[in-house]
Amino acid sequence: MSTAINFSAGPAMLPAEVLQRAESELSEWRDSGMSVMEMSHRGKDFMAIAEKAEADLRQVMQIGDDYKVLFLQGGATTQFSMIPMNLANGQTASYINTGAWSKKAIAEAQRICEVKIAASTEDSNFTCVPTQKEIEVDSDASYLHYTPNETIGGVEFHYIPDSGELPLVADMSSTILSRPLDVSQFGLIYAGAQKNIGPAGLTIVIIREDLLGLAPINTPSMSNYDVHAKSGSMFNTPPAYTWYVAGLVFEWIQERGGLAEMANRNRRKSSKLYHVIDESDFYNNPVRADSRSWMNIPFTLADAELDKVFLEKAEAESMYYLKGHRSVGGMRASIYNAMPEDSVDQLIEFMQQFEKQHG
Ligand SMILES: *Cc1c(COP(=O)(O)O)cnc(C)c1O
Repeated sequence: MSTAINFSAGPAMLPAEVLQRAESELSEWRDSGMSVMEMSHRGKDFMAIAEKAEADLRQVMQIGDDYKVLFLQGGATTQFSMIPMNLANGQTASYINTGAWSKKAIAEAQRICEVKIAASTEDSNFTCVPTQKEIEVDSDASYLHYTPNETIGGVEFHYIPDSGELPLVADMSSTILSRPLDVSQFGLIYAGAQKNIGPAGLTIVIIREDLLGLAPINTPSMSNYDVHAKSGSMFNTPPAYTWYVAGLVFEWIQERGGLAEMANRNRRKSSKLYHVIDESDFYNNPVRADSRSWMNIPFTLADAELDKVFLEKAEAESMYYLKGHRSVGGMRASIYNAMPEDSVDQLIEFMQQFEKQHG
């Protein structure tokens, strides 16, 4: 059993129960005589695994029949270009800029279409999300893109922006499955798996059916949503093992009461950590209270000289990957669904002790 408490932003920790289940089925899946890793993706055993994973995700997220769920490769980063390739049709696209991941999405889109910025919080050094009033959607644009959770800055939307008539497109890589979501408000939702879904290598795309078939004729097949939708995500070999582990994670969520219960846990875990940061003069989080992430919590120490000692002492207590992103500095605790509440308690206790010794 792994004993580390893993605060990594991604790849992130998986639920212990999922790892145990995967381990027990590793060399032979049920009575199939082989590992999931060895199966043909078109055989009946893997087809059953794949279909169950999709059905469970649909159940957990309450995804309507008018959406396709795609299991792709290439990470969220590939979606940065696939989205404008399929949806922009050489026209403009509208983007909200709330930090590092928005910027990357914008930079890729600019290779393909004209980008108009509907709102940017750069003036605040990306320490908040815009209010609805601050978002100016260009009604001629082909879609509005935003990043509901900025994994690096620890900034999160706690509302769904109104995109008017435009399809709303969301990079949910670091917040998908963290709480209930009204999928019907979105045209397209995408997420790399390695934060809240499963191991790296899988990208989930949830796309409303009327947005399929819009890609120009010269679009490469692998970049065309319609091709993947028509082939049930089996145009080529899908990330089969990751798809299977993601299915175990969806079952794990169901067994624990679904997204409502995930939201309860995530709200509790994050608010106790923010509370400790806010109560102390030693720790600081710069994000505006209404825009704070439930998933990624960056914080600085009063004296950056202590960062190294903090990280060393944390590791001595089996707490790993607390170092903040190089662009932000300080610390960052990523506490996705799989992070148990008592591990957050352990971090809090450690932080309070550290402050007593060094504050
Ligand atoms: C991690 C992350 C990405 C990049 O995902 P890859 O799967 O590595 O391409 C994109 N957007 C957000 C919000 C992320 O957290």
